[in-house]
Amino acid sequence: MAPSKVLTGARVVLPTGIEDDGRLVVDGTRIADTAPAGAETIDVTGHWLVPGFVDLHNHGGGGASFAGSADDVLTAVHTHRRHGTTTLVASTVTEDMGVLTKQAGLLSELAEQGEIAGIHFEGPFISPCRKGAHSEALLRHPDPAEVRKLIEAARGQAKMVTLAAELPGGIDSVRLLAEHGVIAAIGHTDATYEQTVEAIDAGATVATHLFNAMPPVGHRAPGPITALLEDERVTVELINDGVHLHPAALQLAFHHAGASRVAFITDAMDAAGSADGRYLLGPLEVEVADGVARLVEGGSIAGSTLTLDRAFRRAVTVDRLPVQDVVAALSANPARLLGLDDRVGSLEPGKDADLVLLDEDFALKGVMRRGAWVVDPQLG
Ligand SMILES: [Zn+2]
Repeated sequence: MAPSKVLTGARVVLPTGIEDDGRLVVDGTRIADTAPAGAETIDVTGHWLVPGFVDLHNHGGGGASFAGSADDVLTAVHTHRRHGTTTLVASTVTEDMGVLTKQAGLLSELAEQGEIAGIHFEGPFISPCRKGAHSEALLRHPDPAEVRKLIEAARGQAKMVTLAAELPGGIDSVRLLAEHGVIAAIGHTDATYEQTVEAIDAGATVATHLFNAMPPVGHRAPGPITALLEDERVTVELINDGVHLHPAALQLAFHHAGASRVAFITDAMDAAGSADGRYLLGPLEVEVADGVARLVEGGSIAGSTLTLDRAFRRAVTVDRLPVQDVVAALSANPARLLGLDDRVGSLEPGKDADLVLLDEDFALKGVMRRGAWVVDPQLG
């Protein structure tokens, strides 16, 4: 068991507010109220202490993908962990159903071992009109029987399925997911406003990377974005990398949804935390230049190279969002959505000691997961 620690002097971001000159006790793997005898005191004055980040939507990193072997999955997980993501849902891309069910089996084992927090299936039940970096030949209508197959292959670890609910079988599939406690996420969709409202009423609760891979807002065709933003039951994912969204679009989402309904995601692919060059996203080839990933064929943006520590820094320093709201979007909101808020998502006694230490300029200095340093700030 990790030795107990008391972190002192930091600005600690708590659900109730920011505590200057705060103190956080870590007893073993958990956050505690009081320090056990013999606990090590670590002075972290001048730093921010925030909860570990929770990524709902992530395809890989460190040169490896969640479509690969168990070693690949762990490489990607550890890459993002070093950037502050202590809870991560592994996302698949559109593949043949046989490939997906096999991958679901592998990922479910890693979820059972506590390495990932479950599986997000992005595709194959998405719209060819808004396919983004998904292989068109492998897209399918959302047949509830096939959705059920994925849920079963994931052995209780399916957390989310992104689908285009306007396609035949879409609404029934949303209902099926909701009945099984799996998040139905609207994305890669060509739905109208009305179709999106119907999907939300059927149980959809997440917008997959709002704005990206869906029709824009029109004054006579308000589209899915308007429906997803206005409904209190929906949490909207945003990719805050400065590439996927104009800063004003991000502000618009925050303004309309409010800070409690936004989740920052990476939608990262293999090149996150790695170098520019050629990569694969599922079966498709991707070229990464200056950190921007695009399909070799057609040039669509193909995921991001974002890590959540960069999303944090950008949200505070460029977007000028309040630190408390950014913490909600990176930790508390996605934790709640996943039903993991009894364990992670905020710095409260009894929860896992998952935390990120940032300097005054919001650069990452330390990461702790379940009481052990992943990135040791070396402050003694
Ligand atoms: Zn994705």
